[in-house]
Amino acid sequence: MSLQELVDISRFYGANPDYVIAGGGNTSFKEGASKGGVLFVKGSGTSLGDITPQGFVRMDRAKLARIWETAYPQDADEREAAVLADMMAAKLPGEDGKRPSVETLLHDILPFTYVVHTHPALVNGLTCSQEGETAARELFGEGCIWIPITNPGYTLSQAVKKALDAYLAHNGKPADTIFLQNHGIFAGAGSVEGIKAIYAKILSVLGEKIKRKPDFSGKTGTYQDSEAIAEALAACTGQNSTVVFERNAEFARLTADAAGFAPASSAFTPDHIVYSGSNPLFIAITDGRPLGEQVRDAWNHHLAATGRPPKIAAVQGRGIFGIGSSEKTALLALELFADTAKVAAYSESFGGPRFMTRDKIDFINNWEVERYRSGVVEKS
Ligand SMILES: [Zn+2]
Repeated sequence: MSLQELVDISRFYGANPDYVIAGGGNTSFKEGASKGGVLFVKGSGTSLGDITPQGFVRMDRAKLARIWETAYPQDADEREAAVLADMMAAKLPGEDGKRPSVETLLHDILPFTYVVHTHPALVNGLTCSQEGETAARELFGEGCIWIPITNPGYTLSQAVKKALDAYLAHNGKPADTIFLQNHGIFAGAGSVEGIKAIYAKILSVLGEKIKRKPDFSGKTGTYQDSEAIAEALAACTGQNSTVVFERNAEFARLTADAAGFAPASSAFTPDHIVYSGSNPLFIAITDGRPLGEQVRDAWNHHLAATGRPPKIAAVQGRGIFGIGSSEKTALLALELFADTAKVAAYSESFGGPRFMTRDKIDFINNWEVERYRSGVVEKS
């Protein structure tokens, strides 16, 4: 049991796109007595794939435990700010300038030496599906906990703590697997081998249940008039922006018509909102009208309806356009949309897709604004 093993397992999952994309996910290791001791948790702004020991923040577990005895304000914004302040104050000396993961409390309350939290598309095919909870119970028995969709931060930690406490009281042992609806999975174990065993089992059981895998074959960066459409989209942003395009078998399927796009037409998880937006724009193309005009009309209509410029435009008969202020952000939008397409395809095996609810989507959109303002932007 060591910090080095935490680094190794973090890189193991972080370097595998089946588990981690766009720097998402976080990991931790506990050292010392169960209630006191030190929690090493992934720091904000670091990526699991190339993390070093310095990428982890050392936290005082006794101080983190005190958060559960503290009465916080009723107002959600005030409460989150107060908890964040207490979390920052729980850093051990020498950790100044680092920010612990926003999911630190979840890592602390899971009573396992190692905790690995990820957002694999295959797992989210379950957590973002109509029958996910029932399927999770059928496939993984009583060993797992299912947490219904919950706002992130302290609210989510509270929901998980309650469920963990109830599980422990009922079963006499802690739950080691937590499915978070419309978010991802937490796994805890006393060793890295234990973590790997949990993940391997879950991914193999889910893999066997999948009736249709997404098909990303036939990938191309241009198709028909995609360059003219990209220019028209860039013009709509009214600023310097980059538009990237991809077509493949899965995207062709999704952009065949408006009905075909329905399974990818909203947001599955907070990460999808952060990188590819909560409202992808579907543009139906009518023959005979100038393309630029159709793109502009659809853009303006979308902007008026949602109040936000889209990061993804799905254009009928063409494919998917990622839109960003730089090539990096445009490609990230496209990458997260590809993940959306995967989740949508996997969810077909569990009763079809289940998007985040409108109020939870609005919370993330506003939360992101707040975090950008305060400089606490993290992918988790
Ligand atoms: Zn997460």
